[in-house]
Amino acid sequence: MKISKPKQLHDVEFKPSINTQTGQDWTWVNPDKLSTENLPANYYESALDTWHQFPSLTTDIECDVVVVGGGLLGSSTALHLAQQGLDVVVVEKNRIGAGASGRNGGQLTPGLARWEAEEMVEHFSFEEAKRLWHFTSTEAMQLIDDLTDQYQLDLGRKRGHITAAVHEGHLVALTKGSDARKYLGEDHTQIIGQHELYDYVKSPHYFGGLFDTLGGQIQPLALNRGLIYAFYQHAGRVFEQTEVTKIEEKNDGIYVSTQTGVIKAKKSVVLGVHHASFQLLQEDNQTTIPFYTYVCTTAPLSVDLKEILPQDTPVYDTQFQIDYYRGVSQNRLLFGGQGTGSCWDHQQTADYLLHRIHHVFPQVNDVALDFVWSGTTDLTVNGATDSRKFGKKYPIYAVQGWSGHGVAQTVRIGKAIAEDLTGKSKDFEILTKIQHHNIPFGRALAPLVIPLAKSAYGVGALVNPGKMVSF
Ligand SMILES: Cc1cc2nc3c(=O)[nH]c(=O)nc-3n(C[C@H](O)[C@H](O)[C@H](O)COP(=O)(O)OP(=O)(O)OC[C@H]3O[C@@H](n4cnc5c(N)ncnc54)[C@H](O)[C@@H]3O)c2cc1C
Repeated sequence: MKISKPKQLHDVEFKPSINTQTGQDWTWVNPDKLSTENLPANYYESALDTWHQFPSLTTDIECDVVVVGGGLLGSSTALHLAQQGLDVVVVEKNRIGAGASGRNGGQLTPGLARWEAEEMVEHFSFEEAKRLWHFTSTEAMQLIDDLTDQYQLDLGRKRGHITAAVHEGHLVALTKGSDARKYLGEDHTQIIGQHELYDYVKSPHYFGGLFDTLGGQIQPLALNRGLIYAFYQHAGRVFEQTEVTKIEEKNDGIYVSTQTGVIKAKKSVVLGVHHASFQLLQEDNQTTIPFYTYVCTTAPLSVDLKEILPQDTPVYDTQFQIDYYRGVSQNRLLFGGQGTGSCWDHQQTADYLLHRIHHVFPQVNDVALDFVWSGTTDLTVNGATDSRKFGKKYPIYAVQGWSGHGVAQTVRIGKAIAEDLTGKSKDFEILTKIQHHNIPFGRALAPLVIPLAKSAYGVGALVNPGKMVSF
């Protein structure tokens, strides 16, 4: 079977998705552009040539390592293992990139979920913090560039990222963050004032910001498919539409059960299933709470994108309920935000995101949305990603708790897992040193806990608006 590289289209082709409906994630497409009974493709899928569909598992098989989940984490881990000559099988319950990896904002930012350099300095020795920061920043970005070059992929990767301060006081927090990064030996940031920021973002609402030449943007589904394309070049096997239901360690290996066959992993299993980890981990696991978050892409704007984002730089702002956005093909704006404990429908989401677009860019009229979609991610109490290694004789790896961040880091952690298993590096160990705590009833109470936490932060922001608590 020949797998083609992901190919970016000039704009979009409105079409049904190759994904099937699983979980609560939904996609809405402007009905004037496409009417379909099936799930429509979101912006990322529509902006790529229709891709390969892999078969389902139909029989029992064996391999060295089973990777469960075909998102960025699973795909990167599988590629890096296969590069070292291991026989690896990826099992995905839906299709490659159907989860958060093909539904996110496409912003490349450093850090480990909500942990930035300052949190690493707070929790680790200087040397460990430095190691962790570089792992999740310079190395993560460099790895994406290296893979892009090595496999000659077209991923829409651009450099440069802005964090825009919605309150003057937030500039203090951004300065401290930049200072912590410099302390750890990474010097890609610059604090810019209100007037200079206006050269990047033509919005009246910001007081200045942080310009970061390390971060940037990427087409995340192209990245996900590109990793699988590369994995295939190393004789990797992929089974889609195959849900893993049980993982059992025995004397001679780990047995991974699906409805249509059992896969025996002779060396290891990797869980790249994000917020669904709790379903497959045998050990006590209540460290994450799922939440829903939302993205839209406009129809081509009536004004030139350069009139609102002159340097084509993606933006995060510093609100707790963050606004983030960037320009994409054919003069469209991709805009995202919010985090809710219960999943909103498309109408509530469209109303909210349109309201935010009008707030940020009041000068842009007649904004219409062509795509709106939801995504699911999960948070931990301390804000850092929860990375584990367990199993008695055969290691089992799991990574969860991304808080809506992690495009670059999933790729880097995938390499670290592969190197941990083959003994090439101990990079994964530092991630497992981060302490996580169970949240009693956390998962079941997510629809209550998330709004309560939001209200608490909302009151905090009213009392002390200059204190930055961004997501
Ligand atoms: C709306 C949204 C916006 C975001 N924006 C950004 C951003 O701009 N920048 C950034 O850095 N990060 C962002 N993120 C976070 C980022 O997308 C995630 O950190 C990253 O995609 C996680 O990758 P993953 O491979 O761990 O998980 P996923 O991509 O969720 O992949 C998990 C896969 O496992 C599969 N699976 C689950 N259970 C099973 C099973 N039992 N058997 C087989 N397969 C299974 C799922 O179908 C899925 O394909 C965003 C997330 C969301 C939801």
